[in-house]
Amino acid sequence: MEKNIKILWDLQQIDLKLLDIEKRINEIPNKKRSLEEKLRLLNEEKNFKEDCRNKLIQEKERREKEIEQESEKIKMVESRLSHIRNQKDYLEMRKKIELAKKSNKLREDELLKKMEEIEQQNKMLEEYMISYNEEKNRIEEALMVFDNELKELLAQKDEIMLKRNAVAEELDAATLKTYEHLRANCRGVGVSRARNESCEGCFMNLPPQLYNMVLKGDKLYHCPFCQRYLIYIPEEKE
Ligand SMILES: [Zn+2]
Repeated sequence: MEKNIKILWDLQQIDLKLLDIEKRINEIPNKKRSLEEKLRLLNEEKNFKEDCRNKLIQEKERREKEIEQESEKIKMVESRLSHIRNQKDYLEMRKKIELAKKSNKLREDELLKKMEEIEQQNKMLEEYMISYNEEKNRIEEALMVFDNELKELLAQKDEIMLKRNAVAEELDAATLKTYEHLRANCRGVGVSRARNESCEGCFMNLPPQLYNMVLKGDKLYHCPFCQRYLIYIPEEKE
């Protein structure tokens, strides 16, 4: 048997394994994409809920400051009240103070409402965060499974590449070059098995004379239809 025939066959088997691994490697980003999108939406939802609560807190703080400033003003005006000699001015000032106090009371009522609202939102957020964390962990774990799968596949690929290089080195340069060319042009498969008088690569019937020569295995032949190398592998060696 021609030495190159066996090497070519081995190389083809290795390259088929590589093709399969590369296909699986290339599928991983797609598989991850929908999970990543889910995670993005989940985080967006969580951020929105937190933003709503934080806005309420900001509003509450603004209101507190307003009430404090207003109280200061009222106190200042009240302290000046005793210095007013004119009765009419005095009463007018008193009235103004009463009105200011009333307005501030309204502000305080609103502040209380805001605080209740915040408390409610905090409670809801707390509950939400439980389901959020569960969902987030689920997604991250699923992503990690894909990452580990990718790592494993890349390691397998490296290992197979080493084997491939060793096998390819055994092949003479011209045959290797032709094989690579065929592989690039025939969807990754440069070697076809001749079986039952036909080429397994393109399923065309081979001329009987060619088929017999391929069976002998003393020389490399090409399929006249798909151009691939034709190799005969006896059944028991499969
Ligand atoms: Zn063919």
